[in-house]
Amino acid sequence: MSQFDYDLFVLGAGSGGVRAARIAAAHGARVGICEYSRVGGTCVIRGCVPKKLLVYAAHFAEDFEDARGFGWDVGPVRFSWPDLIRAKDREIDRLNQIYLSLLSNSGVTLYPQRGSFIDPHRLQVGDELITAEHILIATGGYPWVPDIPGVEHVITSDEAFDLPELPRRVAIVGGGFIACEFAGIFNGLGSEVFQLYRGDAVLRGFDHDVRRVVGAEIQKKGVRLMLETEVESIRKTQQGLELLLHDGSTLEVDQVMYATGREPNIWGLNLKEIGLDVRLRGRIVVNDFSQTNIKHIYAVGDVTSRVNLTPVAIYEGHAFADTVFGGTARPVNHEFVPSAVFSQPPVGTVGPSEEEARIHYGAIDVYRSEFKPMKHTLSGRDEKTLMKLIVDRESQKVIGIHIVGADAPEIVQGFAVAVKSGLTKERFDCTIGIHPTAAEELVTMRSPEQG
Ligand code: NDP
Repeated sequence: MSQFDYDLFVLGAGSGGVRAARIAAAHGARVGICEYSRVGGTCVIRGCVPKKLLVYAAHFAEDFEDARGFGWDVGPVRFSWPDLIRAKDREIDRLNQIYLSLLSNSGVTLYPQRGSFIDPHRLQVGDELITAEHILIATGGYPWVPDIPGVEHVITSDEAFDLPELPRRVAIVGGGFIACEFAGIFNGLGSEVFQLYRGDAVLRGFDHDVRRVVGAEIQKKGVRLMLETEVESIRKTQQGLELLLHDGSTLEVDQVMYATGREPNIWGLNLKEIGLDVRLRGRIVVNDFSQTNIKHIYAVGDVTSRVNLTPVAIYEGHAFADTVFGGTARPVNHEFVPSAVFSQPPVGTVGPSEEEARIHYGAIDVYRSEFKPMKHTLSGRDEKTLMKLIVDRESQKVIGIHIVGADAPEIVQGFAVAVKSGLTKERFDCTIGIHPTAAEELVTMRSPEQG
């Protein structure tokens, strides 16, 4: 009989923690897990899932407009934010229940409490003292906001999902994933949206063509994109909130949402006290097996700040459980992880940007196509689709795909298999396209750009 209460104790029941707990239990481990918020974590409760539901809702505004070009007379339409939020909440409640059932059906014991380390094998979980042979930290991240005067008036994505009403005017600060996604959501639903970004093009780190096209398209849809703009302070006025900008001008809105990044959630865990290697901004250092410097303590997901995406956390959690409890050593490879930004239009991407590829691969061929999607020949909408392939010239492998346009995330998910598998441009060329689709462009581009 083990001297420990559990073979594995997991801190945090989000995507990574729940997957790891379930798989470890299936391998025969005695598993406990604690969560002080709702089981499901950021993605399910206040991230990817509710966000995508709101993106769908926002897109109807365009769909109604576009329908006219196809002979439809849609008539007057009305949108109810409270109805949408209620519907979204019902779906999140359903998913939360599924996650709870997954844990109990796997025989995992849930503690709806906060956990923290007493020493490397002992945890304080609520009022209980629990010992575990292995411990997994899967506590995720939280929205980080710069400390400027008036910051107490701002919301983050956490609160945006539960606003009692749709703001008439909203300022969104940031140019990353969340800022671009919420700019599209609020804009589609009818708010006047100002997106304030300190840089000269949104989505830093993405391919420069993606950044250019997204910036142009979201402005065409009505988002007031204010680049190279910094907020000095925020104050409450009788009419709303007033932002003082770095150039001395002011902007008045009803709601200010900051989307200025997320940080690892290690508060109160006592990691430094037990000697765990924690770096800048709380990132837990792990090896390819998600193992920390203390051999029986592991960490997965956003708390490790490797690639902060839900499917990555799930993959890391599963690989950890297989490695430690399943007898199969599974290192995690973070190369060619596809991702999407659910902006409007959305972005789908896998592999390095053109700039990164030039640095890491040297000679590359770039194939690029920008066109008006077929649907908009009748809708009349002025929206462009961008498709881009990056090919390593020496090996002729396709190393990057970047798309901005309808269904980009769906398209890239499929093509990511080809890129991850190291297929060459010749393999793309000998694949017959499906006509008429936008994605056929990826197998019909024949001439690389010059230069
Ligand atoms: P990002 O890191 O994507 O973007 C943060 C933005 O805030 C950047 O534009 C950054 O500017 C800006 N910023 C940072 N500090 C300041 C500051 N002090 N003042 C003003 N602006 C600042 O973070 P998000 O919050 O958008 O998202 C967090 C993470 O969540 C993402 O990195 C992603 O991993 C994940 N996520 C994934 C999604 C998906 O897969 N679809 C959706 C949502 C989130 P600069 O570029 O100049 O540094």
